[in-house]
Amino acid sequence: MQLFPCPFCGPRDETEFHFGGEAGKVRPEPAAEVDAARWSRYLHVNANPRGATREIWVHATCGEFFLMERDTVTHAVIGSQSLRGEQR
Ligand SMILES: [Zn+2]
Repeated sequence: MQLFPCPFCGPRDETEFHFGGEAGKVRPEPAAEVDAARWSRYLHVNANPRGATREIWVHATCGEFFLMERDTVTHAVIGSQSLRGEQR
C-alpha cells in the first residue's frame, strides 16, 4: 500500500485515486480540424519519462483533480498541488 497526498484530504490510500493523464499535454485545436491520427497521438502517446514526472490524478473520494509529481523508478511521491494553485 502507498499513500498519495490529496491536496484537499491529505494522505490517503492509493486505491482511492485514478490516473488522469500526463501533465502539460496540449489538446489539439480546433477539434473539427484534427485528424484521427493526431487525435490518437494526443490521447495515447505519452513521454513516459524515467524518474521524476508530473501527472494529473483524481481523488475519487472528493472528486478533485490535482497535479502530482512522483518518481517512476522509486515510486516516491515528490509532492502534489491543487489545480487551483494551492500547494502541499
Ligand atoms: Zn481528496
